[in-house]
Formats: sequence, structure tokens, C-alpha cells
Amino acid sequence: MTLAIVDDVRSLKPAPEPAGLPSLWALNPGEIESMAKEADFNGSAVQLFARIQRIAAWNDDGVDVGKRARLLLDRTDRSLPRVVEEVPSDDGATRMVLLTADGHKIEGVHMPRTHVKTPRTTFCISSQVGCAMGCTFCATGTMGIVRNLSAGEIVGQVLALMRAKGPSTGHELNLVFMGMGEPLHNLEHVARAVEILCDERGIGLSEKRITVSTSGLVPQIERFAQLAVRPLLAVSINAADDATRSRIMPVNRAWNLGVLKKTLEHYPYRRGEKVLLAYVLLHGENDGDDDARRLADFAAGLPANLNLIPLNEHGRTSHKAPDDAWIASFSKRLYDELVLREFRGVLTTRNNRGRDVQGACGQLVQGEAQKRGR
Ligand code: SAH
Ligand code: SF4
Repeated sequence: MTLAIVDDVRSLKPAPEPAGLPSLWALNPGEIESMAKEADFNGSAVQLFARIQRIAAWNDDGVDVGKRARLLLDRTDRSLPRVVEEVPSDDGATRMVLLTADGHKIEGVHMPRTHVKTPRTTFCISSQVGCAMGCTFCATGTMGIVRNLSAGEIVGQVLALMRAKGPSTGHELNLVFMGMGEPLHNLEHVARAVEILCDERGIGLSEKRITVSTSGLVPQIERFAQLAVRPLLAVSINAADDATRSRIMPVNRAWNLGVLKKTLEHYPYRRGEKVLLAYVLLHGENDGDDDARRLADFAAGLPANLNLIPLNEHGRTSHKAPDDAWIASFSKRLYDELVLREFRGVLTTRNNRGRDVQGACGQLVQGEAQKRGR
């Protein structure tokens, strides 16, 4: 396990890869077709793809696709991450610990509905075991990077959550890559997983209902921008001056706010598309009047929405969350500054959702590890 240092972030070393057979869940219909040819399977590969995905998501009986198909599928890894623990929260969200086949814990969160106007289920999912980015407020960041999740594990995670808590069709599902890991440090697997999940012949999610959140890996944002099936983008800003941001997010020492803003200005937004700027409030660090002003400056002119998130405190960080009155006044201050700059997006402030389950970014799994004295 290695903790991020600035040079790591700048050189963007790929994270270690998972070992083993190709996962069944990451095969697209074309690949199933070529395997089918090799295995003398003469059924329809497309139908097989559809059945595999649907059976896995909604049927507990395993993949029952007939003998010939089974021979074909034996050439793949069919394990799904398993839900091993569920921690319900007062507001109906459930934090779920999933176990990968090789014994790593990752986490997903099930939110039955996130918004009154769009009562849809949202899953918050992980893209890596650990994270290399080393943000000082984040429990996952303190783990360092263990490895990438494979595309199969990412799809498998969604299928496992659907089994446990899912809506009846993929069309009713939102997905956010805001669990453990930096999805753009694992872009290849994330992109492949998204393509499979959005395939109408399978689960059929919409790319417009998937959000990929990044700490700001600029070259990877540029690659992400070119994806054929491209989800929405969220960027964790968390401080709007370089000194503070570099202190709490080492990634800023490689790509600072000026470079990040330029990248977001030139991003190829689709009609009506906006980038979501996330800002975790750390008391005494980034929640003063000047910070509100600088954040408004950063957001001004971008097709963006802004989301303020009070820190979820945990044992691995000394940062503190502001109290509710402070959050309200920061939010008001920011709102006024945004109006002055004719900002056209929406400003939302997260309530205490998830706080009672230590709800952000790797804290549950970390909490578990601490309990066992690891
Ligand atoms: N690595 C990506 C996605 C996972 S983190 C990223 O950083 O964007 C998802 C979000 O959780 C980020 O916006 C991050 O700033 C936020 N976050 C991390 N630790 C947190 C904590 N302790 N409390 C509240 N939000 C946190
Ligand atoms: Fe990684 Fe995101 Fe946590 Fe930073 S906030 S350490 S990028 S998971």
C-alpha cells in the first residue's frame, strides 16, 4: 500500500490491476459472440448478454442459461461482490459494505431518493480499493491505493446492489461514482463498466443519470471528455485558493485551480449539461467569507451547479465540520456572491444525510478496520 506523494500524482502511475480470469460482467455482446464462436455455442450472444445481466441483477438463483451457455461462461469469472454488511441511516439511506472475490472491502451507498422532484434510487459506488490522492479530510485517502476495481467488479457492484436494494428497471436508477477511489485514476475500467451498464440490451442505465466525480486529474478529464458513452462530470473543488487546496488535496500541486478552471471552460458540454462542483466544508480551513468569494469567482462563467457538503468527521482526520448556523451563513454568503457574478447554476447545501452512519468516502470500511485494531 502506498500513500500518494506529489510526484505520484503528477506522473499518474497507473494503479495496480486485479488478477484473474476476465469477469463475465464486463463482457459486451461482441465479446460474448466471439467467445461463443470459439466454444461452439450457437445461441444468440446478444440474448445471452441480456439474460446474464438481468438474471444477475434480479434473480438470486445464479446464472441459469442452459448447459451449452454454461460451458461458455465457465471461461469467465462469475463472482459478484457480496454485500456483507448494511448500515441503515435515519433518512432511509443504507451504507453497504461489499466484499470483492479476493477479500477487499469496498463500499456502496443506497439512497432511495435523493431529490423530491426526481424520486429515483441512487447508488453511490466505488471505483478503486483505497485511493492514491491522499486528500487530508478523506478516510479513503488515508488508506493509500490498494488496486483498481476491474470493470467486471464495478458492474458487479451495481448488480449486487440491485439485487439487494434495486428498483425494477435500470431506467429508475442513478449512479454516482462517489464511493471509494478516484474514478479517473481508473478511467479504462470505469468507462468500460459505464458502457456495459448503459447498453440497452442489458441493464440499460442512462449516461445522463451517471455522475463521475473527480478530484481534478486534468489530463484524465480531457480523456473522459472524449468518451463515446460519457456520464456527467463532478469535480471536487474543496478550496478555491491554491495554497489551501494544495494543502488538503495534493492533486492541486500537479494541476492547480487555474489549469482546472481552463479545462472546465473548454470542456465539450452537451446541450444543457453542467459540471457539478462539490465543496466539502472544513471549519476554519475553507469556510470563511474570503473563501465564499473565491469559490464564487471560480464558479463564475462556468456552466456549473454547486454542492456544499459539510465534512463528515471521522477518526482519521483532524478537520472539523462547521456547525449548522455557520453552514447556513456560508451558504448565504456564497449565494449572494454568486448572484453578483450572474451565476446561472443551482447551489445546494447537503443536509446531514448519512452523517449518523459516518457517511462519506471509505469511512465505514475504515471504521471496521479500526475496530479490529488493524
Ligand atoms: N475521488 C473522487 C470521488 C470519490 S470522493 C473525488 O474526490 O471526487 C466523493 C466526494 O466525497 C468528493 O467530493 C470528496 O470531496 C467527498 N468527501 C471525501 N471525504 C469526505 C468527508 N469526510 N466528508 C464529506 N465529504 C467527503
Ligand atoms: Fe481519493 Fe476522492 Fe478521497 Fe481525495 S476525496 S482521497 S480523491 S476518494
